Amino acid sequence: MKQSQLFTKTERFAPKDEETVNAKLLSRAGYVEKLMAGVYSYLPLGFKALKKIEQVVRQEMNAIGGQEILMPIMHPKENWVATGGWSGIDVLFKIKSRTEKEYALGQSEEEVATPLVMRWARSDKDLPLAVYQIHWKFRDELRAKSGLLRGREFLMKDMYSFHADQADFDKFYEIVKQAYLKIFKRFGLTAKVTEASGGSFSDKISYEFMVLTDAGEDDILYCDKCVFCVNREIAKQKEGDPCPKCKSSKLSGAKASEVGNVFDLGKKYGQDFNLGFTNKDGEKQYPVMGCYGIGISRLLGVIVEKYHDDQGIVWPEAVAPFKVHLLSLNKNDQAEKIYRDLEKNQIEVLYDDRDLSPGEKFADADLIGLPYRLVVSDKSLKAGSVEIKKRNEYKGKIIKDKEIVKKLK
Ligand code: ATP
Ligand code: MG
Repeated sequence: MKQSQLFTKTERFAPKDEETVNAKLLSRAGYVEKLMAGVYSYLPLGFKALKKIEQVVRQEMNAIGGQEILMPIMHPKENWVATGGWSGIDVLFKIKSRTEKEYALGQSEEEVATPLVMRWARSDKDLPLAVYQIHWKFRDELRAKSGLLRGREFLMKDMYSFHADQADFDKFYEIVKQAYLKIFKRFGLTAKVTEASGGSFSDKISYEFMVLTDAGEDDILYCDKCVFCVNREIAKQKEGDPCPKCKSSKLSGAKASEVGNVFDLGKKYGQDFNLGFTNKDGEKQYPVMGCYGIGISRLLGVIVEKYHDDQGIVWPEAVAPFKVHLLSLNKNDQAEKIYRDLEKNQIEVLYDDRDLSPGEKFADADLIGLPYRLVVSDKSLKAGSVEIKKRNEYKGKIIKDKEIVKKLK
């Protein structure tokens, strides 16, 4: 894409009301624009980055047998009354029609997924199965000051699995946990996994995937020698205590952001809707269910919190809206030709063809944060070469025009 055609422009200063690095940088660089607290528009660069995150998550969910669907955001009140969520979930947004009929906006969607899937899961032969969607969620959050980390409208991947018995669920639970770790790793994030009792499903265990970041709203205790990690709120331990698992290190405290979690729902939802399947002895059974969330838009923010410097964002390649930022420091055909070559070879490139000073172009490239910067100048033009520099490296290298595609492929 030519940068001259990008309708957004970078800003030198962040909006005054943004407090977090992710919101400041993503706004300044033109990835997102705040409509009101906790609600953002995703602009061309931000939308592309969000799609990259979606795509990685989608691949890994498909790889473990998840079937992608798209469920409604607007739900009938009755489904939420059936599960107790209508009165029990404080973040649930409720809408009243002019006809006095009431609706809920999806904040998680067991209330839709359960009746939907159970319409077809009639016998144990139809199980197990898992459906997922990547869709907007709405929550009446009290505080929405952490940029993309806490939205009132945010993008989530939510998967729901249905099993004939607990043993089958337990197997899948483990498979999803491993897939989650793989996903976060692909984004360059190391997630610590906390184990917690699942709130309203009190005898059940849930796991939260936590990325260490000062912008996070969770307080965790973790061991840097083994996998031990707990939420400080519920912990029996305190900072500095010996690790109860490996005993070879002391627990550290840190701020973290929950990028995903997995819940054992037990038989609650099948029971609430009185929807079951028939087992091989002809008896009616309720399915054992799991739900599995990943905060897609929160991840975009967490990645920026982790990957930035004083000049701007430093995207990991898996998320960058473009791989290459091509800067032409003067009007010349060489840059045009390189741009066309890269596009022809399906290397995603943002081409800064604007009539601006080199200083402005360099500053924008650093702020926007694409992984590779290519600079075409008068000097390089004469030598038939360009300067290539990684965003996270200080010094660039000169390479010949014809090596560019090979180098970047
Ligand atoms: P939190 O403790 O941060 O409020 P949660 O326990 O309410 O999260 P879930 O209901 O399990 O979260 O939602 C699944 C995932 O969706 C979370 O792991 C998180 O990544 C993301 N998420 C939850 N709430 C928000 C929000 N308000 N804004 C952005 N992402 C969110
Ligand atoms: Mg919450």
